Amino acid sequence: MLVVMKKNATDEQVIAVVRAIEKLGYKAHPLPGTMRTAIGITGNRDAVDATHFETLPGVAETVRVSKPYKLITLDLKTEKTVVRVGDAAIGGDELAIIAGPCAVESREQTLTIAAAVRKSGARFFRGGAFKPRTSPYAFQGLGESGLQILAEVRETFGLMIVTEAMDETGVDLVERYGDILQIGARNMQNFTLLRRAGRSALPVLLKRGLSATLEEWLLAAEYVMAEGNYNVILCERGVRTFAQHTRNTLDLAAIPEVRRLSHLPVVVDPSHGTGRKHMVTPLARASVAAGADGLIIEVHDQPEHALCDGVQALRLEQYEELVHQVHAIHEALAPRSVSS
Ligand code: PEP
Ligand code: MN
Repeated sequence: MLVVMKKNATDEQVIAVVRAIEKLGYKAHPLPGTMRTAIGITGNRDAVDATHFETLPGVAETVRVSKPYKLITLDLKTEKTVVRVGDAAIGGDELAIIAGPCAVESREQTLTIAAAVRKSGARFFRGGAFKPRTSPYAFQGLGESGLQILAEVRETFGLMIVTEAMDETGVDLVERYGDILQIGARNMQNFTLLRRAGRSALPVLLKRGLSATLEEWLLAAEYVMAEGNYNVILCERGVRTFAQHTRNTLDLAAIPEVRRLSHLPVVVDPSHGTGRKHMVTPLARASVAAGADGLIIEVHDQPEHALCDGVQALRLEQYEELVHQVHAIHEALAPRSVSS
């Protein structure tokens, strides 16, 4: 159930409703918007009795939710969520570019790539210190020393750090060094990890699972939000199909469908979404044209020597050209200003 407050409801009235919800043993999720605040209720086994709230001051109405998810929905929050990190944002007017190597390999490699990412105007830097590799013998990431290099990138270039944690201990570490916590495709349904991410103060970038339906992906986001972390960014990164010309099949139809259902921002990762260098820029352009709030791009100064995902990494100059092109598309799609 949602409790929708009147437009002019006071903060005290919202707090009183939250208290009433908590008194019944449920969890209250107030999500303010510019038009009105709505409060989601979770933690109930049976239907919630609306009469508890309907007569409280400031309440406009109560709404039953028949969908499997509650907090990710436009019913709860009619305006898009803008996730703010420092003075950068994902989901606002600006196209968010998150770029960097697949893995942090060394200080020199990381700082070289970070300089190029900064020069492109991007606000976010990606790089894994904990790598979910198919083979146990493949490079697994530098761990905490990788995170320390990422912290140096933020210090030196002012870039916000997006990096993956694969388990709860990893979340503790990412919280110490990073700005956005990435949950990888392979962990999209690691519910313990999702709950831990939901108790984090960091925004969560939630990648779509390798074969996840849209509903499973949105319910994974719901896990994070149900714990009280409402700063979730969805990331489409392709799903496995019978296609053999790509590593994954990038599902760009997910963008308008997420928009139809949810207030959460959605970014696209055409690097993992295609796994093929020559497809990254075309699919990045298509993602922006389809309405993505941002892009995750793997870039490397020496892709041929990369310890992970070199075949999909763009060279620095290819990356620079991509950024130029996607900004042009994003600008062309900006809402027309109405002249008086
Ligand atoms: C990554 O972004 O480094 C990564 C491992 O991606 P995914 O979880 O989408 O495979
Ligand atoms: Mn990768």
